[in-house]
Amino acid sequence: MGKSIVKFSCHHCGHCCTDVVCLPTPWDVVRIVRERAANPYKFLEFIRPDEITEVEENDPTWLEVGGERYLMALKRGKKGCHFLDKKTRHCTVYEARPLLCRLYPFKLQENRAGTFKGFTLHKDVGCPRHRDGRVPTAPLYELYSDDAEHQQDYADLVTVFNRREYKGKKPSDFIEMFVVYRRRKRG
Ligand code: SF4
Ligand code: SF4
Repeated sequence: MGKSIVKFSCHHCGHCCTDVVCLPTPWDVVRIVRERAANPYKFLEFIRPDEITEVEENDPTWLEVGGERYLMALKRGKKGCHFLDKKTRHCTVYEARPLLCRLYPFKLQENRAGTFKGFTLHKDVGCPRHRDGRVPTAPLYELYSDDAEHQQDYADLVTVFNRREYKGKKPSDFIEMFVVYRRRKRG
């Protein structure tokens, strides 16, 4: 049995919603579309390798289009994430936010046999890591397991997408593989 708490409290500095690229899974996208009626073509972007350095070249979520590689990310502007309220600096999809946002800045610790030990705080993600709070690890572990389970399905979807060849293929066509969003017709 691992540690039941990790010492941490968020002081709402805003770094993770401003400077960090958030890579949602397709299931995160579906949840945001369903719960917030948000348009995935407006809140997603597809970034190239030179826009993100932390993701390995052989990561299975790279989308391939016309000899280029892309990752699905939450769109960001100069003031941060698409979903960050520019005045209040609060997340406007907080209840539906991606798993990565929920797990930040926690890092899973396992022993050699792969048994859960606890959570620590990532050293290199820019969070000030205030230790003046107590966060229960059981819900974090559930989120982590959920995420790990989805990663294989995500990789399988990407494999199918990457095998498809057709004229005019765009990275955003990937969205159609897991969510149906009816764009409103104009006029
Ligand atoms: S970087 Fe850390 S302290 Fe700052 S808002 Fe994110 S979780 Fe909170
Ligand atoms: S979805 Fe919300 S919590 Fe996640 S980066 Fe955007 S504003 Fe921050």
